[in-house]
Amino acid sequence: MSSTNPVIVFDHPLIQHKLTLMRKKQSSTTTFRRLLHEISTLMAYEVTRDLSTTNVEIETPLEVMSAKVIDGKKLVFVSILRAGNGILDGMLDVIPGARVGHIGLYRDPKTLQAIEYYFKMPQEMDSREVIIVDPMLATGNSAAAAIDRIKTLKPRSIKFLCLLTCPEGIAALHSRHPDVPIFTASIDRELNNHGYILPGLGDAGDRIFGTK
Ligand code: URA
Repeated sequence: MSSTNPVIVFDHPLIQHKLTLMRKKQSSTTTFRRLLHEISTLMAYEVTRDLSTTNVEIETPLEVMSAKVIDGKKLVFVSILRAGNGILDGMLDVIPGARVGHIGLYRDPKTLQAIEYYFKMPQEMDSREVIIVDPMLATGNSAAAAIDRIKTLKPRSIKFLCLLTCPEGIAALHSRHPDVPIFTASIDRELNNHGYILPGLGDAGDRIFGTK
């Protein structure tokens, strides 16, 4: 892991175009979910760009050759419930062999601290690379709490992947986890007093699952 976390903004035109469509309040649940699936496949390419490879000997129909495969144990995608699940399917389309962990957190209304209610990870986390997914990095509280917990399992590396973030979310995550790089499609203007990203796209969970 690097010692200062970079923020990598995906500038691919397809990602930016799909994000614009997702932001529109007129986009239906069906459209929003489909776009999130599509954008997640594209983000999966970008976030895995630096995976290390190793050479193995294989036989083509014509001859033996040395060819590249991804090095090490299977990747782990960790979804922060519930909105993180909206990113998972697209990621798994690209990397079907990845393992999946889930972490559920809610905010205590009195202390505003993130309280864990669910935690299930694959085995042998200490030899795996982890990509945590959540569409919105807003206050940074749940992201930081999820990383606190995952770090106790000592994975080889941790990346944080979101669709949108804001300066406040980046600062909060930087201060608690300066070693975790953030991958995002946009750094929006600001966080409002209710913890929403502006201009944003609204409540990601409600828009994915049609619960509003
Ligand atoms: N979570 C959301 O779903 N939307 C925001 O804007 C911020 C946090």
